Amino acid sequence: SSWWGAVEPAAKDPILGVTEAFLADPSPHKVNVGVGAYRDDNGKPVVLDCVREAERRIAGSQNMEYLPMGGSVKMIHETLKLAYGENSEFLKDKRIAAIQALSGTGACRVFADFQRRFLPDSQIYIPVPTWANHHNIWRDAHVPQRTFHYYHPESRGLDFAALMDDVKNAPNGSFFLLHACAHNPTGVDPTEEQWREISYQFKVKRHFAFFDMAYQGFASGDPERDAKAIRIFLEDGHLIGCAQSYAKNMGLYGQRVGCLSILCEDELQAVAVKSQLQQIARPMYSNPPVHGALIVSTILGDPELKNLWLKEVKGMADRIIGMRTALRENLEKLGSPLPWEHITNQIGMFCYSGLTPEQVDRLTNEYHIYMTRNGRISMAGVTTGNVGYLANAIHEITK
Ligand code: PLP
Repeated sequence: SSWWGAVEPAAKDPILGVTEAFLADPSPHKVNVGVGAYRDDNGKPVVLDCVREAERRIAGSQNMEYLPMGGSVKMIHETLKLAYGENSEFLKDKRIAAIQALSGTGACRVFADFQRRFLPDSQIYIPVPTWANHHNIWRDAHVPQRTFHYYHPESRGLDFAALMDDVKNAPNGSFFLLHACAHNPTGVDPTEEQWREISYQFKVKRHFAFFDMAYQGFASGDPERDAKAIRIFLEDGHLIGCAQSYAKNMGLYGQRVGCLSILCEDELQAVAVKSQLQQIARPMYSNPPVHGALIVSTILGDPELKNLWLKEVKGMADRIIGMRTALRENLEKLGSPLPWEHITNQIGMFCYSGLTPEQVDRLTNEYHIYMTRNGRISMAGVTTGNVGYLANAIHEITK
């Protein structure tokens, strides 16, 4: 008998499967609003000018040595400033244990393994819905999962009351996964006031907040504003954890550059925690890749390039916000009697449209429009050229 005879094909990834089907469709009208990667108004992938300039500056100057086990010190320092604040006392006091991670996914995974190793009886509370990979990550780290209410289907907004109930009813000292901004897949974020209430209740319950910040800058166009939830928790004295990614906000998807950080009681604890994070990374991938980290530290370490980056992030966010307005206006102009305010109320890369799986199937089969069956529209795939077609198709299948 063969070694691998018992191996069945794995279930298809729901998001990557959409792209495959899109690529196989010969229709000239086809639209891909499935994938969570930014596109320009011609539907093309974008490399930011600040990244191109950083690459020019780097070219030929770099050897190919290993980074330290924890990654690029300079990149980490700049990255922590984005999350914790330019003048963060925690940075000055060296209270943040941080390692360069294989983008946001890798940061989440190392954290989950760390949680499992040092608090083996803990669980993680995950919002409903969430980025599907969160479930896989904590499953593979053998951390039991619970869920908490987040999205309210009727209002297509936040189910704040149910969320707060779940926070209150969880055992004291529970771990919660929170999307720092631009929640995927719903595009629904708590307001600043709601974050304050959540933070307060976390304090009462002594919960731990782990922030997944995959879209800093993508929500409002301003990375500083998008860090507000984290800053509120910091002000309230929480010792948080945080996963950061440059996939979306610097367009460095394939470079796999990000950061995992854990705020500690003091410097001594931070040194210990960091050493253990590195210990977890060592047998997994040894040390992180060098090129993306160098791009990031070159950009953020140079005031001129950093300004260019800030302008370009804002440009991406603004294009998406513009497409939200256009999609909603087109639907209203077509006379759709349904409420579409949520298209413009939601924030970040995605619109959780409220379309049913059957309606999504009709969009795909009759109009060659591709998206995940949960009705999530990637606004980054909407352009001046296809927004009218998309609105018309949505109108037709929701009549
Ligand atoms: N977390 C969330 C909520 C995401 O949406 C994503 C990407 O889609 C990630 C993390 C991780 O992305 P990456 O590993 O490419 O940084």
